[in-house]
Amino acid sequence: MVSRVIPVEPFDLVLFGATGDLAYRKILPGLFHRFQVEQMPADARVIGAARTEMTTEGFRDHVAQAVRDAVGDDTEVLKALPAFLECLDYVPVDAMGDGGWDDLGDKLRDNVVRAFYLSVGPRFFGPIAGALAKRGLATPESRIVVEKPFGHDLASAKALNADLRAAFREDQIYRIDHYLGKETVQNLMALRFANSLWEPLWNSTHIDHVQITVAESLGVEGRGEYYDQSGAMRDMVQNHLMQLLCLTAMEPPSKFAPTAVRDEKVKVIHALEPVPLSDIARGQYRARDGGDSYTDHAGDPRSNTESFIAMKVKVGNWRWAGTPFYLRTGKKLRNRVSEIAIVFRDPPHMIFPKMEHRRGNALVIRLQPDEGITLRTTIKDPGPGGMRLTEVSLDMTFAEALGEEGRAQDAYERLIMDVIRGNQTLFMRGDEVEAAWEWADPIIAEWQKEDARPPSPYDAGGSGPEDSLMLLHRDGRRWREIGG
Ligand code: NAP
Repeated sequence: MVSRVIPVEPFDLVLFGATGDLAYRKILPGLFHRFQVEQMPADARVIGAARTEMTTEGFRDHVAQAVRDAVGDDTEVLKALPAFLECLDYVPVDAMGDGGWDDLGDKLRDNVVRAFYLSVGPRFFGPIAGALAKRGLATPESRIVVEKPFGHDLASAKALNADLRAAFREDQIYRIDHYLGKETVQNLMALRFANSLWEPLWNSTHIDHVQITVAESLGVEGRGEYYDQSGAMRDMVQNHLMQLLCLTAMEPPSKFAPTAVRDEKVKVIHALEPVPLSDIARGQYRARDGGDSYTDHAGDPRSNTESFIAMKVKVGNWRWAGTPFYLRTGKKLRNRVSEIAIVFRDPPHMIFPKMEHRRGNALVIRLQPDEGITLRTTIKDPGPGGMRLTEVSLDMTFAEALGEEGRAQDAYERLIMDVIRGNQTLFMRGDEVEAAWEWADPIIAEWQKEDARPPSPYDAGGSGPEDSLMLLHRDGRRWREIGG
């Protein structure tokens, strides 16, 4: 297949936090991949910045290792590595001090796109943005990219927004939610708005309910103390699941452009009804078969932080009245799977014999593993046994259907290229983040009350607590198997 990669303009990307974990695992290998397919031009430059004293040569060695760890021994792909390393530079900079800024300024060119990627903790966002503005390194065209977590409640999100906006305009600020960079998530928009097939059915007349699942098989090992301050609500629901909900529920935007798309997403968040505690199941995993429990890592053996949440969310508007969205996310579950399942209503009148265990039509948009789309359809059971029905899945895995073009390009790769192109469509706008916290804060506040019910225990490697199953059972529905 002919490559459809379109090179971006030359750029200077300053990567704050260049010695950190995210840079090592995602950002730097992602940039390499874009270079290797010739999307990142050879005259682009990536300038690493962190406190660690290191030469440019030392940084290049560090990045070479990061790329090798990510690519493995694919010698064909690694042929591009020496030329990629030539694009790298490094400056020691202390975000909170005075050292290094002038050296950084000397390295920046005037005639190329300028982007500052803040792969550092949120407490550095304000000081770095301020220093870039004060020292004249931020131009009116330059962009700033920030990582999650974007606040831990409405007040802190507002404060972060205020810090960034003191130095940059909103149209220069790129808040990354890497879920939006996933191929399937964008395909959800293509599926909905580039086909005439689905949109007439995309409402409560035809859709019984929606299930959004982001299940992880790993626990909180290594991040326990950080995670304990956050929990599944702040770590996953307020951002990633909320984004998936918005894209599924939003009205068709007038065009595929940043303001039009983000306006429609914000409207969904504003339409969310408050969620009563009775519509939420919280859980915390416990050891099974000699494994570990959440509290082994949390730093507090009596922690009441949830590692699992399931909730029933209602979007209060004409399109969705009567169609609940069930959200579920957790750690140490049976499998690692992320999907959006649109479950359709049964036909109004069935002329065939009743089918045992009928589950009905479902359109499943799978984010991981194996990004793709599945449509569960009812057909005749083959053979001479009369008009018996069965259900089959029409399955399209992108990597199989589209070959190399369908390769799951890492979300970071795509999003960084969007930053360089100046396209904010797949980034969260400040008001969107604040609206999501406005919805989440009252729920979290309830859990923090003295008499709040602690999360229910669930077995590591299972499907979550019993309350989660009951949430759907009482509505006459059931969850899809996690990875089944
Ligand atoms: P990390 O491994 O702790 O790295 C932090 C980076 O910040 C290091 O490069 C560190 O370098 C630099 N740094 C710390 N203090 C500094 C200062 N005063 N001035 C300049 N640089 C400083 O963190 P990370 O996991 O890469 O995460 C970075 C950001 O991405 C965080 O906001 C995190 O929440 C977010 N994030 C991470 C992941 C992930 O998978 N890791 C996923 C999603 C979001 P020096 O020590 O050399 O200064």
